[in-house]
Amino acid sequence: MKLLEKKVAIITGGSRGIGKGIAEIFVENGCSVAITYNSSKAEAEKLVNKLENKECNIKAYQSNAADFNEAQNLINDVLNDFGNIDILVNNAGITKDNLLMRMGEEDFDQVLEVNLKSVFNLTKAIQRPFLKQRKGSLIHMSSIVGVKGNAGQANYAASKAGIIGFSKSIALELGSRNIRSNVVAPGFIETEMTEKLPEDVVQGWREGIPLKRGGKPYDVANACVFLASDLSNYITGQVLHVDGGMLT
Ligand code: NAP
Repeated sequence: MKLLEKKVAIITGGSRGIGKGIAEIFVENGCSVAITYNSSKAEAEKLVNKLENKECNIKAYQSNAADFNEAQNLINDVLNDFGNIDILVNNAGITKDNLLMRMGEEDFDQVLEVNLKSVFNLTKAIQRPFLKQRKGSLIHMSSIVGVKGNAGQANYAASKAGIIGFSKSIALELGSRNIRSNVVAPGFIETEMTEKLPEDVVQGWREGIPLKRGGKPYDVANACVFLASDLSNYITGQVLHVDGGMLT
């Protein structure tokens, strides 16, 4: 029996990187998947074609997670297309790094809107269908930077710490309706983005990690499978670090 058989998930920012890894592993586990993207249409369509199979329904939607109304429309569209939704993975995120000295207001606002307000938008929009069916799993992508802070990432760290406070509050509000809310906090995950960095820099980072390697999108995705599946039915309000021991 596959862990997510007959379940339906929405994964925001599912066209690339970690979100793509989550979509791939969810489908392997029998889950139907709606992925969203903001601008990378070609990548999203390529992934849909790659994952298409007889068991699961896979579809991509252009939807700006930072826009309140677009989030409402997205949930309605996915409900029309898939019939129901069991899992929401709030994964979409961006960085606009700079020291506070050089960080503009726009860079702060944009990161907060895409990373944190999006989590409010999507969770708010899915609340009603989850309440009606008296079940649902919410998974929000934070970062160890949201737990520990990081020089040059005050905007990003604030958004990721905000996600943790939001998720714990929702876990308290909606627990009595069997709706669970958990956070995944990845450490250093190697994606297409990190492939562009000099190998000696990346190797230095790897050596500082207790497990002596960077994480892969599938490492984060496997944690999400657990939190999405019935194996975690008694787990809510938690922050699961997927960081090779970086914060130990
Ligand atoms: P990524 O490769 O840059 O992918 C980001 C995804 O989010 C893309 O699919 C992108 O789609 C989408 N996205 C961006 N803005 C959006 C918006 N306004 N509305 C909808 N979708 C939007 O990033 P990643 O490294 O996989 O990171 C995924 C999540 O994990 C983020 O929340 C990030 O903060 C978190 N994280 C990453 C790491 C790491 O080491 N990589 C570590 C800790 C936490 P478009 O291309 O269409 O914009």
